[in-house]
Amino acid sequence: MNVEKILSQMTLEEKASLCSGRDFWHTKAIQRLGVPSVMMCDGPHGLRKQVGEGDLLGINASIETNCYPTASALANSFDREVLHTLGTALGQECQAENVAMLLGPGMNMKRSPLCGRNFEYFSEDPYLAGELGAAYIQSLQAEGVAACVKHFAANNQESFRMSGCSQADERTLHEIYLPAFEAAVKKGGTRSIMCAYNAINGQFCAENKLLLTDILREKWGYGGFVVTDWGAVKDRVKGIQAGLDLEMPGGGGTQDKQIVEAVKNGALAEEDLDRVVRNMLQFVADYLESQKSNIHVDRAAHTVLSGDLAAKCAVLLKNEDGILPLGKDSVAFIGEFAVKPRFQGAGSSHINVPHAISAVEAAQGRSVLYAQGYDIHREDNAEALLAEAVELAKTVQTAVIFAGLPDSYESEGGDRDTLAMPENQNQLIEAVAAVNPNTVVVLHGGSAMELCWLDQVKAVLYVALGGENVGTAAVKLLWGEANPSGKLSETWPLKLSDTPAYLNFPGDGGSPVYAEGIFMGYRYYDKKEMNVLFPFGYGLSYTKFAYSDLKLDKQEMADTETLTVSCKVKNVGSVAGAEVVQLYVRDEEASVRRPVRELKGFEKVFLNPGEEKEVTFVLDKRSFAYYEVKIHDWFVESGNFFVEIGASSRDIRLSQAVTVNGTSELPVHVTRLTTMGELARFAKGKAFLEQIIAARRDPSEAAAEENNRNMGEGSEKIVQSMMFEMPLCSLVTFGALTFEQLDGLIASLNQ
Ligand code: BGC
Repeated sequence: MNVEKILSQMTLEEKASLCSGRDFWHTKAIQRLGVPSVMMCDGPHGLRKQVGEGDLLGINASIETNCYPTASALANSFDREVLHTLGTALGQECQAENVAMLLGPGMNMKRSPLCGRNFEYFSEDPYLAGELGAAYIQSLQAEGVAACVKHFAANNQESFRMSGCSQADERTLHEIYLPAFEAAVKKGGTRSIMCAYNAINGQFCAENKLLLTDILREKWGYGGFVVTDWGAVKDRVKGIQAGLDLEMPGGGGTQDKQIVEAVKNGALAEEDLDRVVRNMLQFVADYLESQKSNIHVDRAAHTVLSGDLAAKCAVLLKNEDGILPLGKDSVAFIGEFAVKPRFQGAGSSHINVPHAISAVEAAQGRSVLYAQGYDIHREDNAEALLAEAVELAKTVQTAVIFAGLPDSYESEGGDRDTLAMPENQNQLIEAVAAVNPNTVVVLHGGSAMELCWLDQVKAVLYVALGGENVGTAAVKLLWGEANPSGKLSETWPLKLSDTPAYLNFPGDGGSPVYAEGIFMGYRYYDKKEMNVLFPFGYGLSYTKFAYSDLKLDKQEMADTETLTVSCKVKNVGSVAGAEVVQLYVRDEEASVRRPVRELKGFEKVFLNPGEEKEVTFVLDKRSFAYYEVKIHDWFVESGNFFVEIGASSRDIRLSQAVTVNGTSELPVHVTRLTTMGELARFAKGKAFLEQIIAARRDPSEAAAEENNRNMGEGSEKIVQSMMFEMPLCSLVTFGALTFEQLDGLIASLNQ
């Protein structure tokens, strides 16, 4: 397909027609020019391809297919390979079904554990989400299928999801809410981006030029197209001018007419429309070029794959007395999730799975007993089910309870209002633990929960929403045929009121103020020195790992250089296992507020007992920088930093200092209100300040004593603090200068 040639032959109406979808899932064709219609489908953890014509809401039956762990589970793997494997599998499934684009992955941050769609998002940490998302995108696209990263941007709650306005300052957006998308563009090379429904700071994402053009295309160099979230258009013409391309599902073409009108009456430049058309034609051309025929997907093999991935995503949260892995003890599985696992989330990502493998099914041949324990759909018939389960628990050595959040607790389109699990499940766990000291809980759910019974049980294995074969994964992990190696990709707080966004989620009238700023997730809990239930990056294993030999290839560096960091990790236990080695950077001292530490690297290493491996990381400017609003860019402030290696964000095993020298200076803009303290931060200002101090200071001991008598002990420091808070105009009001002299001085400082 020759994009430019086709473009030059198109009528205005044909061009406008390519700006919106034919129906819920297809682009439009232009038969006379040989442009076919292509299909896109929801995912992202399976292929949700609707059969027949798409209906208005996109809820018709979809094909039966494989379902993999959702993003929040995948992120717990901290393993790029897991995402590569999944991307490849999904790419093949899309090719087999003639799907040109898969709508995912979701790259939004988990700002609050209450967000109903958290199960579709990777993490509270933008670096982790960006790295994993990029791996998924690379492998999906290597199969010739476009990814569609969503929901761009600051779409962090379901309340008011289609009309709300997220209010976040520039630094917060760039440090927390945008970097995962940036990685999807720069590292993942995503060919498409879905803009979110919501507005940011007063401007809807679908018509937000700052977002869709200035940041996305100009700053990040994005070359793909932007599609709306389904039905997100408010002002179509403004959207095109802002950088939006395709409108989905298409609204029956009404907006296409507006586009034609706007070009005719000069409200929209035809070249802006041509950009959209060029992007859409390129998308179709790329797909046609990479489209594969006769692809056969082995569904059964992909079911096995799904279970293998799920096992790599599970996090062992507690394992007292090494109760896990289970031995030959008699075991009862209790809880309806043991036969009907919750393995995916509800909403547009819901995959049609003919049969999900439960733990009871996977444990066949192990003579495991079963009691339902609770009813997933009803909480009012708890007593009889509970009594039966307690009786069973008394008869076995170990009781394994399958529990967690039902669909009704977390889904697209609605937020949770509590971190608590259903009361009937809590009561069951407490009652079983009271009669059986060896109680283990297997937890399903897409985000953090409150575990009021944690002290009463011996072990907790978090399998999140682990896909169609989560039952097999759970059974393998319980009996030690697989060793848990996941780490939490979000902090689990002690209680809801501890969470950073507590006072501003979901916000009044759909306008959440992101008042916690850059202090979201562990960045908040660490800065406030708060206790948490489980920290970010935490997870146990059936073996133990020892860390040693941290090496930095430089002690001092310029921010234009890279730093190579290495350390050794050894399996000092008796079974094979994998460890996630986490690298955090801590700024020792900064003139702006910074988190205590931030994740800047991670590697997952598999080790046999006694085996040791070296892990290497390469850090660059971005690893040390913060986003400086004065220059609308990343900036490194010279000084000492610590490179920390940890087994979690709160289990730092090795640490070493490095001095990083920033090579750029912030622009200076001195005004009458610039304080002396601010002057001290740049060379010329500092020199001026030293001059005034020297002129006024009497270095004699007698003077120091006199000052101490008048102002209190340590007067020199007190005087300096007071002086540093004075704006330059005080030099006039305290009689040292005239305004004329001051303005001359300011002019010279600004030169
Ligand atoms: C969701 C998207 C989804 C789209 C199509 C929207 O409501 O927010 O994530 O891809 O519908 O189903």
